[in-house]
Amino acid sequence: MANVKVAIRVRPLNAREGVDGGRLAVQVEDKLVRIKNTKLDGRQDVHGDSREKVLEFGFDYCYWSVSPEEPHYASQEEVFQDLGVSVLAGASEGYNVCLFAYGQTGTGKTYTMMGTQDSMGLTPRICQVRNRFLEIYNERVRDLLRGRERKKKDSLRVREHPEKGPYVQDLSQHVVSDYKQAVELLEEGIANRITAATHIHDASSRSHAIFTIQYTQAILENNLPSEIVSKIHLVDLAGSERADPHYCRDRLTEGSNINKSLVTLGIVISALAQNSQMSSSCQSINSVASEGDAGSTVGSHTSSLSGGGGGGGGGGGRRHCFIPYRDSVLTWLLKDSLGGNSKTIMIATVSPSCRSYNETLSTLRYAAHARNIVNKPRVNEDASV
Ligand code: ADP
Repeated sequence: MANVKVAIRVRPLNAREGVDGGRLAVQVEDKLVRIKNTKLDGRQDVHGDSREKVLEFGFDYCYWSVSPEEPHYASQEEVFQDLGVSVLAGASEGYNVCLFAYGQTGTGKTYTMMGTQDSMGLTPRICQVRNRFLEIYNERVRDLLRGRERKKKDSLRVREHPEKGPYVQDLSQHVVSDYKQAVELLEEGIANRITAATHIHDASSRSHAIFTIQYTQAILENNLPSEIVSKIHLVDLAGSERADPHYCRDRLTEGSNINKSLVTLGIVISALAQNSQMSSSCQSINSVASEGDAGSTVGSHTSSLSGGGGGGGGGGGRRHCFIPYRDSVLTWLLKDSLGGNSKTIMIATVSPSCRSYNETLSTLRYAAHARNIVNKPRVNEDASV
C-alpha cells in the first residue's frame, strides 16, 4: 500500500503578472503551501468582510521556482533529484511508476515534464538511465510516432489485457539502446504533437501526452534467465481549466473545450480519495482523528472536485464508490496508476500571482485529494512478454 505522492511547484511570475508589482498569493515553507486571498487586502468582499483569508495545505514536496536568486529556489535538477530519482528507483525495483503533471495552462507542466533546450525537464532526464535494454512507447490515442511505421491509423483503440491491464492497440513500439535515441524519439513525438495543433498552446492545453517507457531488466533467478518488466508513464495533462464549466462557458466553441478525460480524472480521484478515507477510518476507529492525512485545510474541497460526477452518493454512505475508469481514455489507460499497481507521483504546477488565486486554490484542493489515494504497487516478477 502506498499513497500517491504529491508535489507542488510554483513557477516564476510572467510579464503580465509582473506589471502590477507582482503581488504574490502563494508562499512555500518546507512541505506547506499557504495561499492568501490578497485581493481582500484593505478592501471588503461582498459580505463586507475585509479579513485576509489564508489557507494552508501540506504536501510531500513543495518547490519554489519563482526566482533563481532566492535561497530556497528549486531548479530542474532539484526536482529531478527527488521525483525523477524516485521514479527510476521504483522502476528498477520492478514497480510500475507514473508521474503526472496537473495544473492550469501556463503554470509549468510542460516545463517540468519536458523542459526547454537550456533547461532539461524530468522526461529527458529520466531517459538518461544506464539500462541496456529499454523500449519506448509514446502514446496518446493518436500515435505520436506513427510516422516511423507504415501503419496509418489515426485513432487507436484502448483494450484491456486480463493481467497486464489496459493498453493501446496497434501503438508503435520503438526499441532504443541509449539515451540519445530515447531523446530523439521524445523530440519527434513533441514535434508531432505541435504540428497537429493550430497553435503551440493548443497542443499542450487541449491534449494529454503520455510517454511510456518499458523498463526491462534481465535477471538470473535460481540460475534461470528471467525478466522484470516495469512501466514508467510520464504524463503531461491538458490544462486543468479544460475541466471547468465556467471557463468553457466563456468560449464561443462551448462544449468542445470541455475535456472529458480531465473531468473524469477529477471524478476518479475524488471517488478514490473517498474510498481510501473510508477504509482508513474503518481501520482506525479507535485512533485519534488526524484531520485527514492529506494535511490539507479542512474545508469544502469535495465540492470543487466531485462536481456533478457519478459516484459521490451523498455523505454517510457505507459502500465504496464505483470508480468510473472506463468513462474516459485517460483514466482507463492510467487505471493502474490511480488506485492500482503503481507507485504514483503527481506534480501540480501553479502560478504564484494573486491574479490566479482561484485557479491556484482549486489546483491545491485537487492535489490534496489526490494525496489521499492509496495504490497497491507490487514487483512485476517475470512478466512474460
Ligand atoms: P503549461 O505546460 O502548464 O501550459 P508551460 O510549461 O508551457 O506551461 O509554462 C509556461 C511558461 O512559463 C513557459 O514559457 C515556461 O518556460 C515558463 N515556466 C514555467 N515554469 C517555469 C519554471 N519553473 N522556471 C522557469 N520558467 C518556467
